[in-house]
This record gives sequence, structure tokens and C-alpha cells, in this order.
Amino acid sequence: MASSAYTGPVFDMALAQFQDVADHLEIREDQRLRLFMPKRTLIVSCPINLDDGSTTVFQGYRVQHHLTLGPTKGGVRFAPSVDVGEVAALAIWMSWKCALAGLPYGGAKGGVAVDPLALSRRELESLSRRYMQEMIPFVGPHTDVMAPDMGTNEQVMAWFMDTYSMYQGKTVSEIVTGKPVETGGTVGRREATGRGVAHLAARAMEEVGVRSQGATAIIQGFGNVGSVAAQALVQRGVRIVGVSDHTAAYYDPAGLDVAALERYAREKRILRGFSNELSIDAGELLEQPCDLLVPAALERVIDAHNAKRLRCRIIAEGANGPTTPEADAILRERRDEIFVVPDTLCNAGGVIVSYFEWVQGLQQFFWTEDEVMERLYAALDRSWNAVRARARKDDISNRKAALAIGVQTVRRAKEMRGLFP
Ligand code: NAD
Repeated sequence: MASSAYTGPVFDMALAQFQDVADHLEIREDQRLRLFMPKRTLIVSCPINLDDGSTTVFQGYRVQHHLTLGPTKGGVRFAPSVDVGEVAALAIWMSWKCALAGLPYGGAKGGVAVDPLALSRRELESLSRRYMQEMIPFVGPHTDVMAPDMGTNEQVMAWFMDTYSMYQGKTVSEIVTGKPVETGGTVGRREATGRGVAHLAARAMEEVGVRSQGATAIIQGFGNVGSVAAQALVQRGVRIVGVSDHTAAYYDPAGLDVAALERYAREKRILRGFSNELSIDAGELLEQPCDLLVPAALERVIDAHNAKRLRCRIIAEGANGPTTPEADAILRERRDEIFVVPDTLCNAGGVIVSYFEWVQGLQQFFWTEDEVMERLYAALDRSWNAVRARARKDDISNRKAALAIGVQTVRRAKEMRGLFP
């Protein structure tokens, strides 16, 4: 590819995965950039007044990958690491994920380079509102629909929705998903990603012959995805032996008290200080023996260095992009020991229920929690069956199978629509 505005290790990883799948699908070289490169990107400066009276500026991004299947859809991340390459990679992965799940969306992602835990509530509200205000010409309920991701939550979505609506002079609840239920959100959205991860982890356990009852799990990241996955796994009889966040890691082979951890994290917003005796080095935690390893935080945490040393039976990827291509090659070698449920499949519960929320918002007709969960699990099961069948038929990894289905779906739609003008 000629020089591009999108750089960095996460973007390179999305490109390497795509090239691998494009080779497998025998996509002509000249057709590849049209499928892979993001359609458009907006970079904004968001000035806000801080509580100490000073003014500061945060850089914000929104990348829309393709508009072939409908509006774009994707979360907004508030984290210090955010840059345009990372956001673009996450947008591209969203496209393959939505296509695999059969949703009428292209992928998008947004982000602001900021540590949200360093802001007061008022500062966070100012930044959220200013970011959305800057995005108004770029997004819309039929153009690009936002949702929570790392560092953002239901409250931030409520501020986004309120800001957008104020400018339109009417309530436009469909501009974001992952809103509080009180403001037009759907029941089950907050829990959807974590519960989906637990559901597919259970399918994987069935497949490799591990009983849920008494199985063990280690979870990296204890935010929305990690903490809900932990609770959903406990409900299925799984013992959580390790958890971590960016401030602490805990390990207890006898099992951790997930409800106490959850209460602690809700109150303090971090895990540091929960226990001294149970502390373990965060890197070592990933290498402890367990049935299920659930990365639910950052990208690129399973790499060439630790992939050989993992002692889990299943990796269920709650996070986006937690496994590098180099680690993937090692895991392919170890496929008889470790079964991988890839991110594109494993964490799709979030965007599936976001789609349900968008549909309910457009129709102003709301479903019960049972209806949401039943449809979520049915959608995940369809994707699971398609990925497993493809992996078996082509003798490829689950990741390559999931990406192949996603890429092929977008490719076919582009071919049928043709190239304008
Ligand atoms: P969150 O902000 O609610 O939680 C993130 C968690 O990761 C926090 O506990 C944080 O402390 C922890 N963390 C950060 N750096 C860490 C590190 N170095 N080591 C260990 N833990 C670390 O975010 P979230 O919404 O739970 O998202 C987590 C991951 O799941 C991201 O990759 C996100 O893209 C992905 N994801 C989220 C959703 C969703 O619906 N929220 C959907 C699909 C995928």
C-alpha cells in the first residue's frame, strides 16, 4: 500500500490479518484496498475548561470503514493510547464482526486520547459533549451510530444523545446505543458483551469436553466486558481463579469472590487495594493454569512471548485484537491444546444488542429482557455454527474462518452494488 495516514502496531495487525484472509479467499490484489481502507475519518480538537480554571485540548477521532451495507456502527473509546491507527483498526474489525453477525452495518470506531479516570465528572461531561458536538456533521442515526467502548459507559452515551438531540431540536435516541434504559436504551445492552462471551465460552467448553461446573477461568480486565463475563461464568458454575485490571492482578486457585470484587470495583473504579495476599504479577496471571482465559482489556496482550507459555484450554476473546498475528501462528501450532474463540465472534454480543436497541429506538417499540437475550443467544449460535463449519471445511483457524465470512460478505455486497460512478 502507498503511504497512508493510518499507522501503528494495531493498524498493521488489522492489515496483516486482512492480507492473510484475502490470500485465503484469493481476492485479487487490485481489489484489496477497496475492501480494506477506511472510507473516511474525522479528527477533531476538543477544548474544555478544567476544574482548576485552566483550559486544555484533547484530540478526538472517528473512523467510518465502509457504508456498503448501511450506516456505520461502533464504540467510542476514551483511553490515553488512542490514535488514528488504533481507531481505524478497531473500525475495520467492526466491519467484519457486523458482517459475520449478519447486521446491516459497516464498521466505525471513535476515540479520544484521554485518561477518563483523571477527569472529574464535570470535566468528563464537558469532554463528552464537546466531542459529540464536533461530530454532528459526520454522524447520524442512518449514517453512523456510536456506542460505548473502553473508558466510556451508559452515562457518556446519555450525554452524547442529549447533545446531538439539543442541536436537532428533538430527541434522537437512535444516534447512540448503550444508553441507559431510562433514556431509550434497551434492557440487556450493558450485559450483552460479557454474557455473550460466557455463552460462547460455554459452547467452546462443550466442544472440547470441559464441564462448566467446576471449570476455572482467568479474566484480564474488569470493566464492562470482564466483570459481566465473570458474573455470567459464575452463574454457569465456573470458578474465577484470576482477575486483573490496569492497577492490580489477583489469583486464588480456590476461587475469587466475584461479587465482592464487583462491589469493590463499582465503588473505587479500580481493583487496587482489594487484597494484599492474593496479588500476582499481571503478566504471570495470564500464564497460570486454567480452563478458560478471557482477555477483556487491551489489544496485543497475547504475543509471541507468552503464547508458548499459556496453560489454558480455551481463549475466549472479550477484548478486540488481544492476540497478535505472531501469537496466532503459535496458537495454530498448539491447536490440539488451546481452542480459540476469536474476538470477531466472541465479543459480538455487544453490537448485536446494539442493533436491537437501534431497531427498538427507530420503531419506539421495546422488547422484554427475555426477548433480547433469546435473540442474542440465537444470533451468536448462528455465527458460532457458521464459523465452526467454515473452519472444519477449509481446515483453518476459527479466527481465519470468522474473518473470511465477514470479509466475503462485504466483498459480495460491494461487487453487487458496483463501483460508483
Ligand atoms: P471498560 O473501560 O469498561 O473496562 C476496561 C478494563 O480493562 C478496566 O477494568 C481496565 O482497568 C482494564 N485494563 C486496562 N488496561 C489494562 C491492562 N494493561 N491490564 C489489565 N487490565 C487493563 O471497557 P470494556 O467496555 O469492558 O472494553 C474492554 C474490551 O472489550 C475492549 O477491547 C473493547 O474494545 C472490547 N469490547 C467492548 C464491548 C462493549 O460492549 N463494551 C463490545 C465489544 C468489545
